[in-house]
Amino acid sequence: MAMTHRTERLELTDQTLRAWEAVVLDSSPEGIVLDRSAFYPGGGGQPPDHGVLLWQGVQTRIAGVRKGDDLYLLPDENDPLPPAGTPVRGAIQDDRRTSLMRTHSGLHVLCGVVFRDYGCLVTGGNMEPGSARMDFNLPEVPPGFKEAVEAACNAEITADRRIDVRTLPRAEAFEIPGIIRTATNLVPADVEDVRIVDIVGLDTQADGGTHVASTQQIGRLQVAKVENKGRGFRRVRIKIVE
Ligand SMILES: [Zn+2]
Repeated sequence: MAMTHRTERLELTDQTLRAWEAVVLDSSPEGIVLDRSAFYPGGGGQPPDHGVLLWQGVQTRIAGVRKGDDLYLLPDENDPLPPAGTPVRGAIQDDRRTSLMRTHSGLHVLCGVVFRDYGCLVTGGNMEPGSARMDFNLPEVPPGFKEAVEAACNAEITADRRIDVRTLPRAEAFEIPGIIRTATNLVPADVEDVRIVDIVGLDTQADGGTHVASTQQIGRLQVAKVENKGRGFRRVRIKIVE
């Protein structure tokens, strides 16, 4: 059971979950702590979920999540706060989350293709729903790179590869060849269990984000732009379209 202190993290094991029952453990304008939550708190380039808590006929909109000594859901300042002890129904804004899942999985396809075809590691990245950028330590951009990468990514999407999530003990996880695709290992030293996101046959990464179940669910990937951001930083901008 994946916990962030007192909160059981439901989204880490069920990425399709959009609504659930929970109880408020703590409540203040600085954040609401639930016993169970499917709100992705942000991390690994994926921004936090938006959503709502429904309780006693009112709603508290959640505009973000903050990780501290607990997982704090950030309430809209105009909405009432559910007191500690209140049973609530949590719900994730589906269009935003689903778009982020497609975008995040699209970035892993990009990452897998660039590593396989050009041997490059990732030096940075970020995403919004439907668009993203990733930086690679590519010394120079070969002719036709943009078109070749886009075609190769869409071939992997069409192949409809399964995207599996599993958790492994740290030592076992780091025995997987190429498990760390970033130029530096960002998994903190005190993490005992490592969550693995595996695009079967293409890309295996240590990752805490939310992903679609197979590559076809990503939709079509466009390489919008390739930019030179200086030594070691070739920035690839992608868009996810239907
Ligand atoms: Zn990721």
